[in-house]
Amino acid sequence: RDVPDDISLLTASLRPLNLRGFQPWDKFCDAVKSALNNPMAPKDSKGVLVALRPVPGLRVEQLLTLCKTNRMGDFVTLGNNRLMLFLSYCRINDLEIALRHIFPLPVGDIISNRVVWFEDNDIAAELTQMRTIPETDWQSPISPQDNTPSPVNAEHSGRVWRRVPVPLALLQPGAEGQN
Ligand code: C2E
Ligand code: C2E
Repeated sequence: RDVPDDISLLTASLRPLNLRGFQPWDKFCDAVKSALNNPMAPKDSKGVLVALRPVPGLRVEQLLTLCKTNRMGDFVTLGNNRLMLFLSYCRINDLEIALRHIFPLPVGDIISNRVVWFEDNDIAAELTQMRTIPETDWQSPISPQDNTPSPVNAEHSGRVWRRVPVPLALLQPGAEGQN
């Protein structure tokens, strides 16, 4: 195994992958593989791989519009009607916190099924499964021309999700004095 012999090599291998956001299925698999192969990251601490299936009525492409990865090294793909998310270096105990930063709603409200892998061997085994998914089952993000309305009333500012306020009239014009 190579031992880095200078500080720039060492810092380069500790830095999370220079990748963030949506990746095609094969690129996602390659990136998870290189995260697993990082000799400087401790065993079973490379990150967390999460598979999410949306609740009925929500397409996986719509779920992607709600998945805003902020941190470099956090990346996502779509295939086989699942959204796959890899969170570099995230500790398993911090998964809920990370998901809260990434999605605008509690994931329980938009996800019907969640599977999580965080040990090296389990991630590697799932990666082998993922490589068997044919290209016909890979899915792409909704194109920017597609005017499908957002499934939730929230916008991402580039850093955090914010609910979009909806004006609400408590009294309708002409309603005063009635009742
Ligand atoms: P980054 O790691 O790519 O994260 C980009 C942005 O994602 C951050 O912008 C922040 O808005 C959000 N973010 C990422 N991880 C977390 C987290 O664990 N908790 C929270 N609450 N937000 C998170 P920000 O804060 O402007 O940071 C810009 C860059 O500065 C980060 O890019 C990272 O490279 C570095 N950085 C900032 N704070 C820390 C830190 O406490 N530790 C480390 N290692 N790096 C930091
Ligand atoms: P951590 O990476 O050890 O970060 C610990 C705390 O440092 C974070 O607590 C946050 O207060 C601060 N911090 C770290 N990086 C950044 C940054 O880039 N920007 C800002 N503004 N603050 C930062 P927090 O937010 O409660 O997160 C706790 C843990 O949850 C993190 O531990 C990390 O393991 C995980 N996590 C949270 N958000 C993300 C995320 O967006 N991506 C990943 N991969 N992990 C995350």
